[in-house]
Amino acid sequence: MAEVPRAGTGEVDAAVAAARDAFPAWRAVAPGDRAAIMRAIADGIEAKLDTIARIEARNAGKPISDANGEIGMVVETFRYYAAGPERLLGKTIPVAGGVDFTFREPMGVVGLIVPWNFPLAIASWKVAPALAAGNTVVLKPAELTPLSALELEKIALEAGLPEGVLNVVVGPGSTCGQRMVEHPDINKIAFTGSTEVGRSIAEGAAGTIKRVTLELGGKSAAVVFADADIDKAAAAVPYAVFGNAGQDCCARSRILVERSQLDRFLEVMEGTVKAMRVGDPLDSSTEMGPLISASHREAVASFVPDERNVAFRGGVPEGPGYWFPPTVLAPVSNTERAAREEIFGPVACVIPFDGEEEAVRIANDTEYGLSGSIWTRDGGRALRVARAIDTGVLSINSNSSVRVSTPFGGFKQSGIGRELGPDALDHYTEVKNVYYSTEEGS
Ligand code: NAP
Ligand code: MG
Repeated sequence: MAEVPRAGTGEVDAAVAAARDAFPAWRAVAPGDRAAIMRAIADGIEAKLDTIARIEARNAGKPISDANGEIGMVVETFRYYAAGPERLLGKTIPVAGGVDFTFREPMGVVGLIVPWNFPLAIASWKVAPALAAGNTVVLKPAELTPLSALELEKIALEAGLPEGVLNVVVGPGSTCGQRMVEHPDINKIAFTGSTEVGRSIAEGAAGTIKRVTLELGGKSAAVVFADADIDKAAAAVPYAVFGNAGQDCCARSRILVERSQLDRFLEVMEGTVKAMRVGDPLDSSTEMGPLISASHREAVASFVPDERNVAFRGGVPEGPGYWFPPTVLAPVSNTERAAREEIFGPVACVIPFDGEEEAVRIANDTEYGLSGSIWTRDGGRALRVARAIDTGVLSINSNSSVRVSTPFGGFKQSGIGRELGPDALDHYTEVKNVYYSTEEGS
C-alpha cells in the first residue's frame, strides 16, 4: 500500500543530532506558545481524521470504526496535554535559613518506541506529554505500521512545531531501536511492546543510566461473580478479549467465572461470539479484522493445537487474509499454557472458580498485572476484590481500559511507570531542587 525508506543506525544518529540541536530553543518556548502549537497539532489531526483512520485501518488491518475511535483519542490526547506546559508546577518547601523550591525540567531528547497494535494512539500517549514538558523526540514506530506516524510528523510541522523537535525514524527494532536504547544523547526511552523486548531495553539502558518507562504485556482477568448481571457480563466480556482481534495488551484473556453460573455464562457468551462480525476492516459494521501478519497467526494458532479444549468459535470470511476466528477455550485450568502466556490473539480461556478468595488467588497467579475487570452487584465485594488484585488498571461492571485523563500502566512484569492522565508528565521531567539562602549578606 505504500513505500517508505528503511532507516538504519546512521539515520537514528542524524535524528538524535537534530533533536539535540532543537532542544534548547524548544524548551525556551513560552509555555502558552508551546500549548498553542499542541492545540494546532490536535486540530491538524482532527481535520484529517478520516484519512488517517483509513491509513491505520489498512496498515494494521483493524476495523475502520475502531481506527476512527483511536484517531479521535489521538486528537483528545494532544488537547489534554496542551494544558501541560502551563501546569508543570513546582513546590516550595519550608527549610531553615532560606527558601527551597523545585522545578520540573525537561529531560532533553527522549526516544519513543511503539508497537503495531494501536500505532498512532500509543505514539500520541508518549509524544504529547514529551513535547508538553519541553523535550524533543525521536519516535520509532513498528516496522509493520509506520504510516500514521509519518502523517503525524507532517501535520506537526504544518502546525508550527519547529524542525527537529519531532523526528520519526522508520526501521527495525533490532537495529534502530537498539541504537536508540544505547545512544548517549538520548536521555530517556519510553517503550510499549513485549515484555521480552522490554527486558532487553531495561538492560541496554543500564549503560547510560537512561530513564526508562515500559508498557509491556498482560494476561489480565475478567472476574465474573455469580451475583453479577450474568447476561450483561457474558455479552460484554468477549469484546474485552476479541477487540482488535485480541492484539491488545489490556485483553482480559482469562475469564474467571463462578462455577454456579458457568453454564449460563457460556450459553450467552456463545451467542455473542458467534454473532461477532469478523471481516473487511474497511466495512463500517466490522467488529474484528484479521491478525497483523502470517507469522503472528502461526504464533496464535500454536495455543490451539487441536479442538480438544475448544468450547466454541466464531466464523471468519473465506479468502485471503490472516484470519483467526474468535475462539473460546473452556474449562481451562490456570496452570495451562494458554492461561499463562500472552497469546495476543482472539483466544479466550474460561476458568471456573469457587468463591471470592479463589477468584483473587487465580487472578493474581500470573507474572503480569496490567488490567482486569470485576463483574458483581455487591458493592463491598467489588471494592474488596479491586484492592486485592495486583494490577494497574481495573474496571467494575465494564470493559473500560484507557481514558486520556486517567493513569494507565502495569504492576509486576507488565511494566514500569504510567502513561496518560496527570502522572505521565512526571515521567517526562526531572525534578530540580533549588535552595536560596535568605541570610543577611547573601
Ligand atoms: P515488540 O516486538 O516488543 O516491538 C515493539 C517495538 O519495539 C517495535 O517498534 C519494535 O520494532 C521494537 N523493538 C523490537 N526489538 C527491539 C530491540 N531489541 N530494541 C529496541 N526496540 C525493539 O512488540 P510487538 O510484537 O510489536 O507487539 C506485541 C507486544 O506488545 C505484546 O506482547 C503486547 O502485550 C505488547 N503491547 C503492550 C502494550 C502496553 O501498553 N502495555 C501495548 C501494546 C502492545 P520493529 O517491530 O519495527 O522491529
Ligand atoms: Mg515483535
